[in-house]
Amino acid sequence: MIEPGATIGILGGGQLGRMTALAAATLGYRCHIYCPEPDSPAKQVTPYATTAEYDDRAALARFAAAVDVVTFEFENVPADTAEILAEMKPVRPGPGALRIAQDRLREKDFLHSIDVATAQYREVASTEALKRAARDIGPQGVLKTVRGGYDGKGQVAIRPDTDLAAAWREMGAELGILESYVDFICEISVIVARGTGGHWATYVPVENHHAHHILDTTLVPARVAPEVAMRAEAIARHVADRLDLVGLLAVEMFVTSTGEVLVNELAPRPHNSGHWTIDACATSQFEQLVRAICGLPLGSPERHSDAVMRNLIGADVERWRDALAEPAAKLHLYGKGKAVPGRKMGHVTRLLPRRD
Ligand code: AMP
Repeated sequence: MIEPGATIGILGGGQLGRMTALAAATLGYRCHIYCPEPDSPAKQVTPYATTAEYDDRAALARFAAAVDVVTFEFENVPADTAEILAEMKPVRPGPGALRIAQDRLREKDFLHSIDVATAQYREVASTEALKRAARDIGPQGVLKTVRGGYDGKGQVAIRPDTDLAAAWREMGAELGILESYVDFICEISVIVARGTGGHWATYVPVENHHAHHILDTTLVPARVAPEVAMRAEAIARHVADRLDLVGLLAVEMFVTSTGEVLVNELAPRPHNSGHWTIDACATSQFEQLVRAICGLPLGSPERHSDAVMRNLIGADVERWRDALAEPAAKLHLYGKGKAVPGRKMGHVTRLLPRRD
């Protein structure tokens, strides 16, 4: 067990790292943030920080020497960085989970190997391969970059009349994945925490609404049938078990009109769709991550309230005054300077009486 008083190393300095560091402080831990940006949301809340590139071996060695356990707050941290650190200190979740989550092809292959349903997909490495894939999986789909894409970046919608050569160029990467288009009735996610002993705590499935490919609103709980919710939770636990994950796993899923649940993406870290847990649960996702990676007992994921979480994206941040004036609204700002379009500046959680 890594006891309170120890230091948690966090790779990445964004808002997820910031909220993890705040939760860790509540339990008496220190956090040391490692990221290339000198001023980042996470570095504002703890004095322990390294500003260096992710491949700077000397800086990584000094960081490892200064911490007791390492975690990460975004999945585009190079997996090699996690491997290097894992030789010196426990890295939780491990580099294996990171490698799977940062490669859409590897992620889908892994899900299939453990009998988890996804959209149909094909690897594509050229316009010709894209044409073949479109013939295989049908005329409507989504072409995505295999690596580095998030919040809709590197994605192109494919329709029967799409010029596939142009779509291939637009995606802008050497390797892509064509997924069949899922005509979903809603998008949900489940966050599960898994401890060092393989025990877990699962948050209720929530419903996610996107605007311009970025999460806009999370409704808690998701408006799905109880059996769909149960299946979604079981899928998340199954994936966490098969990854042998220690930490948090967010599983994004599509629910179809026939009640089918298809996994879209995995994120082995705190997730935007779990921010409501700070204000509506006995134990937030961030505290749960700290408990899991330090080998502490997990806390209750039960919610005392239902909730609606809205992101403040770009200029939305100006609404902070309105949020403060609302008694049922809880404002969270991330300390970011410039409100450029698409940038997540903060969020507001509104609590509602719990209905079962
Ligand atoms: P992703 O980056 O994979 O999370 O995709 C961003 C958003 O695009 C998702 O939240 C969906 O709204 C939509 N999307 C992604 N893949 C598909 C798909 N295969 N079918 C339908 N919509 C999709």
